[in-house]
Amino acid sequence: MNKCLSATTTFVNNILAKDNNFKILLNTLPDLIWLKDPDGIYLYCNHEFELFFGATEAEIVGKTDFDFVDATLAQFFRDNDLKALNCDKATVNEEWVSYAAIKKNVYLKTTKTPMYSADGKLIGVLGIGHDITHLKETEGNLRFANNQLSKIACTDGLTNIPNRRAFDKHLNQQWNFCKREQVPLALLLIDVDFFKEYNDHYGHIYGDRCLKDLGKLLSNGGYANRPNDFSARFGGEEFAVILSATNLQYAYEIAENIRNDVFNLCLAHEASKVTQLSQKNITVSIGVAAVTPKEKNDELTLLHLADTALYQAKAQGRNISIKQDCQ
Ligand code: GH3
Ligand code: MG
Ligand code: MG
Repeated sequence: MNKCLSATTTFVNNILAKDNNFKILLNTLPDLIWLKDPDGIYLYCNHEFELFFGATEAEIVGKTDFDFVDATLAQFFRDNDLKALNCDKATVNEEWVSYAAIKKNVYLKTTKTPMYSADGKLIGVLGIGHDITHLKETEGNLRFANNQLSKIACTDGLTNIPNRRAFDKHLNQQWNFCKREQVPLALLLIDVDFFKEYNDHYGHIYGDRCLKDLGKLLSNGGYANRPNDFSARFGGEEFAVILSATNLQYAYEIAENIRNDVFNLCLAHEASKVTQLSQKNITVSIGVAAVTPKEKNDELTLLHLADTALYQAKAQGRNISIKQDCQ
């Protein structure tokens, strides 16, 4: 045992020997407590720490971490000791550890503090390991619950596709993207034809089922499958598709694909007043618009244009797509 070690060991023993109650107190604490000299040699540890290393205090004192745990973990402990010594203040780190003496895995919040004697001499690093496993698990559960909540907040409860809130956010993001890139942003507003009549004829439950089928078609139909494209339930019996970096003609072609595919779903709509149908099926009218964002306009310009186009499609008899260019 070198001179420094024997001096500090004596110091520690003096503290503990003077007051046996103090030793009992430290051994009663559920925290792990230990003291190492500046070279990483153990000077003291309490009972909880003995369980961690699977050795008695007498066996631990005079040895280093490298005598008890694998080299990688021992080096990790040593690095954190040196960090506390180098910055000369308490440092905190968190770590998963397994006890050697008993079956116990815990997540520790470990505080390492340089310790000085009354006359200002460095004794070593005092460590306190506090079990925060429960907190860590609660944190994980909270993060999971938060993710679930964010998903629910952005998903339409009936159709399980993104809702209006998600649509507004995505439209704004893509508007800004297309403004930076100076490329057109296209929008399709899709409205079911004579849906009030559908509900009146088949009942609300079948109306809901029909909206679910349309939602499924929009999200799985491959119309908006580039990374920045997006389809959503806009509200009621209206859906929307955002096509980023897409010109009006291409957006119109997508709209026509959607319109034909909706018809080909063959969802019977006996009460439809759309004329010239080969079959009385559910149909949609679609307003299509594309705008290259400029300083003077915002995403409402695009929404307004698509809405106007949809209105024209309704006025022209429904089951058609109308495209509206930016003036
Ligand atoms: P148009 O061809 O002009 O669009 O006629 P429309 O009947 O589709 O339009 P209108 O706005 O008159 O009616 C929309 C209907 O959509 C009325 C409303 O009850 C129904 N609707 C809106 N949301 C839901 C829903 O979540 N479930 C069901 N079953 N019906 C809905
Ligand atoms: Mg409508
Ligand atoms: Mg409608």
